[in-house]
Amino acid sequence: MSFNKSNLTPAMRQYADIKEQYPNAVVLFRMGDFYETFYEDAKTVSKVLDIVLTSRGSGLKKAPLAGIPYHALDQYLAKLIRANYTVVMVEQLEDPKLAKGIVKRGVVRIVTPGTIIEDTMLEKASNNYLLCIDFEQKKFGISSCDISTGEFVTTTVDTIQQVFAEVEKYSPAEIIIPLSLENAMFIEELKKKSYLINTHDDRFYVIEKAQRTIQDHFKLQSVDAFGLTHPLNVSSSGALLSYLKETQMNTLSHLSSIRPYTISDSMILDAATQRNLELVKNIKDQTTRGTLFETINFTTTAMGQRKLKQWLLRPSLKLKTIEERLESVSELTHDQITLDEIKSTLDEVQDIQRIITRITYGNANPKDLVGLKQSLLVVPKLKKLLASFKSKKIVTIKEINEATNVTKLIEESIKQEPPITIREGNIIKDGYNKELDELREIAYSTKDWLQKFEQQEQKSTNIKSLKVKYNRVFGYFIEVTKSNLHLVPSHYTRKQTQANSERYITDELKQKESLILGAEDKIQNLEYDLYQSILKEISLHTKTVQNIANIISELDCLVSFAECALQKRYFKPDVTNDYNIMINDGRHPVVESIERGEFIENDVSLDQGSNLHIITGPNMAGKSTYLRQVALIVLLAQIGSFVPARSASIGLVDRIFSRVGAYDDLSMGQSTFMIEMTETANILHNATNKSLIILDEIGRGTSTYDGFSLAWAISEYVVDILKSKTLFATHYHQLNKLTDKYPTVKNFHVAIQEDQKEIIFLRKIQEGGTDKSYGVHVAKLAGLPQSVIERAKFMMDIFEHDKIIDQIHSQVIADFTNKTESKIEPIKTPHEKKAELDPTISKKLNKKPIQKSLFEVVDNA
Ligand code: ADP
Repeated sequence: MSFNKSNLTPAMRQYADIKEQYPNAVVLFRMGDFYETFYEDAKTVSKVLDIVLTSRGSGLKKAPLAGIPYHALDQYLAKLIRANYTVVMVEQLEDPKLAKGIVKRGVVRIVTPGTIIEDTMLEKASNNYLLCIDFEQKKFGISSCDISTGEFVTTTVDTIQQVFAEVEKYSPAEIIIPLSLENAMFIEELKKKSYLINTHDDRFYVIEKAQRTIQDHFKLQSVDAFGLTHPLNVSSSGALLSYLKETQMNTLSHLSSIRPYTISDSMILDAATQRNLELVKNIKDQTTRGTLFETINFTTTAMGQRKLKQWLLRPSLKLKTIEERLESVSELTHDQITLDEIKSTLDEVQDIQRIITRITYGNANPKDLVGLKQSLLVVPKLKKLLASFKSKKIVTIKEINEATNVTKLIEESIKQEPPITIREGNIIKDGYNKELDELREIAYSTKDWLQKFEQQEQKSTNIKSLKVKYNRVFGYFIEVTKSNLHLVPSHYTRKQTQANSERYITDELKQKESLILGAEDKIQNLEYDLYQSILKEISLHTKTVQNIANIISELDCLVSFAECALQKRYFKPDVTNDYNIMINDGRHPVVESIERGEFIENDVSLDQGSNLHIITGPNMAGKSTYLRQVALIVLLAQIGSFVPARSASIGLVDRIFSRVGAYDDLSMGQSTFMIEMTETANILHNATNKSLIILDEIGRGTSTYDGFSLAWAISEYVVDILKSKTLFATHYHQLNKLTDKYPTVKNFHVAIQEDQKEIIFLRKIQEGGTDKSYGVHVAKLAGLPQSVIERAKFMMDIFEHDKIIDQIHSQVIADFTNKTESKIEPIKTPHEKKAELDPTISKKLNKKPIQKSLFEVVDNA
């Protein structure tokens, strides 16, 4: 927007100068007790915040205006940020009373969804990430930072799928990209998934500039100090840091390091798998209801909850890490009394990760400091409780620095029950500062004087109800009710008439007032200054506090695992470097928690001799539950948790892939079958023999023969080439024939009991295939009209009698097996093999005469 500044008042000219610099953001312009917005911003703000739109000035100077009271800022700011606006905060930089001419104002911070630190605007149990992407020569740099906690990490990935997986993992509130990537296809995809994308000038990504930003901030000679080996680590994290500096206008001293990681450090869970397994968000409404997180979360602190989410999305691949966690959980489960005591001790811990950030920003309130002190005092208590513990992870906890300097400082300086506000005094303890004590002495003694004065005036005037009162406008005054006015002495000067009373002052009272108010003003200013210097002093210990916060959050998770194990009958798994996954009497952690009936336990045994299990059974039999339960048990084991199984031996899994057939997938936009195939292609390109794949009804999103052919070909590829451990639930029971050709394929089915034409789901996985689908039975259970059920049964009898379907199937399988056998070339390279999986194969098969003649058989039938 451009302004004709000659028409504007000085204050509005000041506004116009700032607005010109931030045309795309909402500018909140502090004027006294209000943050005002003007012109288009005022219209936006009045709509988004539902506040009145008025105007300022008249004629040419008239400007639409909407203002929000300064004390309600957080609540309104939260609404604007939630609506994805960028907000520029303009403050008065000097005391208006002391200003000569127009009050100096300036931008103090730019608030965006990814740069919030206010507790009231953040979700306690979730991190709030700002994620920055850079791209060059077929590689992506991804850096993520939660400025509310100080976490700052960076990695590089090779494919767009991996970018999506990282984005899903961090679920960022805001993504920043170089301006030149604005129209890239994958950015469009991210926008479709409702991620907020903001651009940042390309020059901040230039390696030299990015490097300088990092070195200047962390005071480093070289970025090698953090092990930022790849240029994309440097460009993405340097650009992210420059964006933070530009918006926060603050030292950001709580960002004390950047931690590089490689995605292979932890189990890779692509975006579809994260969603499908409902780890931290459910598919239905994106909340935590019915998720694995909600089921196993027994943490006590907000920091613990965030850490647990992080662990769930990044299961470890390091045997040592996993074993150390399991060992601690085991030790904790053996001492339930101490476990309970630790839990109630952790209950006293506040979110010190975020408090220390606010301290470095200079806007922590006095209650935050008392909270920090109480939380830090928990550390020695925890050490005592854990004194006899021997497991390695807990021993580290016992060694943490207690930050006694910080607790001592807060104890000596801040009152135990301070107010939330910083400006109104009553924060600093007596005895902490001599000057403050003296000023308080003056203020208090004059307050005593006021009391005595009131008594003395009551006596001398003989007005018992006479009161000495204070308000901001008149200062101190004497109030006399109407019925006593005839007793008011002549030296009282009338100041104000109220409905039932008159207000007076006297010379004596005026004199005392200036003494009291002078002292009170000085006290408030001094308390403010002292408070700011205490914040500065504490922020010198930011790293120590962050370290304590991190260790407490880990302890909280381990305690949560122990509590969950005891309450829900979870047992310690063996985690190994073997290939095998063996689970005895496994349960689905979420389904068993929400189902009212008894949960039927099931085994699984995946090894080199049996690595593809084809699982058949009617709808509702329990196939999906079984598949997911295996994946979730593996995942729980690799985060170091006990598992819902009587015993389990888990060979480390590098990735879990989970795909659901198109009918179950509610993704919108693209054809669901296309999505299913794209996701399957991703599996076939990326799975290794250390991966676990669960395929649920893959291929059913297209015609029966297309779908079956794809399912067959996919299975062959998995067994032949990938050798990943795979569970494939399908209603194509013809896939059972795979065992004829591949000794490592095993057939299983979910047991059904037929009882006078009814079926009973036994939920038990048994060896062997099946040739029945029970579709009509399930339809009956679902309440289809009886006439439709009868007609369907009749049709089925005809088909079964004529054995048409079976003939077709046998013919397809025989033909398909022969064809594929003659088609598959000897294996040369995995790459060439992968190329064979081009989905056009299905198209080709569709056109073969065999398919045509088969359809003719059906048509003629
Ligand atoms: P499918 O994939 O075969 O259609 P699901 O796995 O969706 O079947 O299971 C259907 C329902 O059966 C689940 O919602 C759950 O309520 C119940 N169920 C599944 N497995 C079990 C089990 N092992 N024990 C008890 N109930 C189960």
